[in-house]
Parts: sequence; C-alpha cells; structure tokens
Amino acid sequence: MSSYGYSKRSKGAAIKQKIARKVTREKKEKLKTARDWAKEAQAAVNLYIRTRDKGKPCISCDKPDVGVRNASHYRSAGACSSLRFNTFNNHASCYSCNCALSGNLLEYRIRLVKLIGQEKVDWLESQNVVVRYSVVYLKRVKDIFNRRTKHLIKLRGY
Ligand SMILES: [Zn+2]
Repeated sequence: MSSYGYSKRSKGAAIKQKIARKVTREKKEKLKTARDWAKEAQAAVNLYIRTRDKGKPCISCDKPDVGVRNASHYRSAGACSSLRFNTFNNHASCYSCNCALSGNLLEYRIRLVKLIGQEKVDWLESQNVVVRYSVVYLKRVKDIFNRRTKHLIKLRGY
C-alpha cells in the first residue's frame, strides 16, 4: 500500500474520531442541569475577575498578588443571586480573606468604596431580588465571560 493510501485512511479515521467526540460532548451537554451550567458560568466569571485583577492587591487586606487568588463576592451568591455575575460585586482576593475569613467583608467594604464609589456600594447593598437563571442565560454568561477573558489576555499579553 502506498503511503498516500495509508495517510488517506488514517485521515478518515481521524474525522470519524472527531465526529464521535462531538457526539459525546453533545450528549454530555444534554445531561447537564441548570445547576451545572450555573457552576460553569460562575467559573467563567471568576476566571475573568482573577484575570482583570491580576497584579492588583487583595480587595480585603491589600496582600500583593502572590499565591492562590480567589474571585471574592461582596454580596454572596447565596445571599443575593441577582448579583452573582455582577462584576462590581466580585473582586480578586487572597485565599485566606475569601475562604478563612468569609470575604473579610468589613475590610472589603472599605476598599470597595474607594474602588467603585459609595453610590455603587449602596446600590449593591440594596439589592435583594431572588433570580433563577435559565440554562440559555447561563450558557450566554459562560460564553461572554470566556470571550472577555481571552480578549483581556490578548490585550495585556499574558
Ligand atoms: Zn486578603
């Protein structure tokens, strides 16, 4: 058999594999619940926040950007679902402020007022609407924030 024939056949096999992977991915996507999509959307938003705030100190304690960093919500997703994906409500913090100190909120608030202004902080604190997001909306959030992160990385060159 000629080398041409061999490569043609393996190209066909590669295409079949690619199609099989696509079918598997689509099947997996169909099995995902709204909760799964919410997690993926939140992960995309959090990655965007950590990328946006790269090099900036922790929002709650001014620790420089070293070690593990979290995207820390000022109003938690549980307390205020309507602000879950809001970028004014989410800033990079060190691991210990976000996890061990549950956001270190008193300190967070002082720096948040300096960063976004009293008016926006008052607005964040006045929000109390419970929102249930549709799967379509969550997929859009994931897509939009993944694109925003890629754009930022391209823009800043890291
Ligand atoms: Zn901190």
